[in-house]
Order: sequence, then C-alpha cells, then structure tokens
Amino acid sequence: MAATENAPAPVRTLISPSRFVQGKGAMTRLGEFVAPIGSRPLLVVDDVVWGLTEQTVRDSFAEHDLRVERVGFGRFATPAAVEELVEEIRRTEADVVIGVGGGSAIDAVKAAGHDAGIRWVSAPTAASTDAPTSALAVIYSEEGEFLEYRFFPRNPDLVLVDTQLVANAPVQFLVAGVGDALATFIEARAARRSSATTMAGGLPTETGTALAELSWRLLHENALPAIDAARAGVVTPALERLVEANTLLSGLGFESGGLAAAHAIHNGLTAAPQAHGLAHGQKVNIGSLAQLVMEGAAADEIEDFIVFTTKVGLPNTLTEIGLSPDDEDELRAVAEAACVPDETIHSMPFPVTPDLVVDALKAIEGLSRRVRAAHGLPEPVLYRAEH
Ligand SMILES: [Zn+2]
Repeated sequence: MAATENAPAPVRTLISPSRFVQGKGAMTRLGEFVAPIGSRPLLVVDDVVWGLTEQTVRDSFAEHDLRVERVGFGRFATPAAVEELVEEIRRTEADVVIGVGGGSAIDAVKAAGHDAGIRWVSAPTAASTDAPTSALAVIYSEEGEFLEYRFFPRNPDLVLVDTQLVANAPVQFLVAGVGDALATFIEARAARRSSATTMAGGLPTETGTALAELSWRLLHENALPAIDAARAGVVTPALERLVEANTLLSGLGFESGGLAAAHAIHNGLTAAPQAHGLAHGQKVNIGSLAQLVMEGAAADEIEDFIVFTTKVGLPNTLTEIGLSPDDEDELRAVAEAACVPDETIHSMPFPVTPDLVVDALKAIEGLSRRVRAAHGLPEPVLYRAEH
C-alpha cells in the first residue's frame, strides 16, 4: 500500500485475547471465566454441540449464578446470520455473547458482539482453525464463498478450549487445524521480509513472528502423535501442545505476524465449486505449498512440507481437491480472486500476478506426486467432501 503524505508513521503492534484457557475438562469452568466478563450471557451453539455440552454448561453457569440462554447456529457466518444474532442479543438483553463449537459460529459471534456493542467469548470444541483467538471475522456468502474480512477493535475477552472435546471431535477437524496453522509461519515469514502491514494494523513485531515460528515447531513435533491421540479419543501432552499451537499461537502469529499468499489462495479457492465442502485448513494447505513454490523456497523445505502434510493427511495436489492442471479456466478464476487489490497476497515481498499464481498451482501437482513417490507415500486421490 502506497504511503501518502499525511499517513501516520508506521508502528509495530501485537494484539491478543484477554485470557486463554485450555485443558481437559475446561468447559466445566466456563462459568467461572465468563462471570467477570458479563452477567447476562447468550450462548450460540448448534444442536449437535449443545447435545455434547449442555449439561456441563448448565452446571457451570448454575455455580456462578449465570442464566442459560441459547440460540442455535447451523450455517456460514453470512451478513444475514450476523444480523440475526444481533437481534437475538438485543431481544435477550445479553451483555456477553459466547460462541461454542466451530469456526462459523465463533466468527458470527464476534461480528454480532461487535455490532451490538457487547463483549464476546470463543469456546471452540474442535481445533480446526486459528479463528477463535483473533479480532477479525471472515464473512462468507450462503454458498460459502469468501466475501470479506471484518476487523474489530478487540480480540475475544476469553478463549476457552476443552481438549477432551477436541479429542472427541472428528479427527479430520484436527487435521484441518494443522493445515491452517502450518500456513502461519510461512505467511508471517513472507510478511516480515516485505515489512507488510499485518491484520493487527501495523508492522510485524519480533514477538508475532517468533510466536508463528514456535507454532511451526510445535506442529512438526506434535501433530502426528496428537492425531493418534485424537483417534483414540484421549488427551495427551502432544495433543495439548498441538491445540496450543494451532489455536493460540497460530492465531496470534497470523494476526500479528501477517498473512500473505497462502490465505489469499485459500480465499480464491472458495470461488471454485470443486473445493466446496473442503475444510478451511485443507484449502489453506494448497495455498501454503503454492506460496512456497511461488517464492522459490529451498527444494528440501518444499520436500519436507509435502512429506509432512501427506503424513498428516492434508491435500497437497490439485487432484485431491477436485481440480487438475488442465483446468485452465478454474485455476485462472481462483488466481484472479486471490489477487484482488485488498488481498493479503500483495504482502509478498515481490509483485504477485494471477499468472504467477496459476503457474504455482499447476506446478504443485507434478512436484507433490514426485516427492510422494520418492518417499513411498500414497498417490493422491480425490478427497471426499466432509466438513
Ligand atoms: Zn486460516
């Protein structure tokens, strides 16, 4: 972004939630941590998650004299969904709104809490994205196409993660969360090289970049044993470290370290019907690999990324997300959407054009197939759409 004569001098900044709470059974203490924030909570929870958490939440709220007022949520965080939640907040005279469950409910809660002028809390029941900690919401169309980022002046007052619920959730949620979080360091490193403005509204801090790097290390050390633990439905130290990496550290790291090409390519992929039904982190992983190719990352780094993400169970070829290098029109549309003027792809340390994105997306197919074959890893097959 070009500086103008009257633009204030750039500053470095880091933002974060007021409190982060994580642990096995943490949901039993939701009331204790919500009580200092508000006295009239509104819970936003879909029916499935409410079935799993209702008794725990009721017991915890009763202990702290908090009412149990709840509305359902079963859609994308669309502008209409946000408006309906604002109405519910007003109708119930809530002074704190709590999103329990997945990323869409949590994003809608942030946007609605902000619009209604009250405080908001994230209580994710899966570790599938780093959205719960951030001060922004991603708004989608009814069909799940990316519309916009909305920025708020505050992060959630509380982020509470019950790792037993994470372990009980479908394992592909955790796998997707690894994909989302792996992008954080790749993007923060690029944003730092170009001194780009981060989602926090300033230059990256040393702290933001270091948190992104710590997230990257913890993911590599803990993802595979943590996924084993989640398959068994148990909480282990590896799972705890993975959840901290992909919920807290990745959230702080992307927001105050900077986004770049990987998430912009994800946003572009939401325009491709083939990719509908894929999780956020699955599409982000394609964006991460395309970014590494585009920036000319070292061959061994790219190879390690392909091997690791294949073992984790993330897509790293077009085939797996229902596309092929021959889909010229679709890939062009994805690349054009990834390169619109406001996109974070322009935080890369060199000018990015749709041509560059198309070439990178085409390149990952043959590259990943060769690396996977050389390491005795399975050939890519189309992922079944599951959320
Ligand atoms: Zn993300």
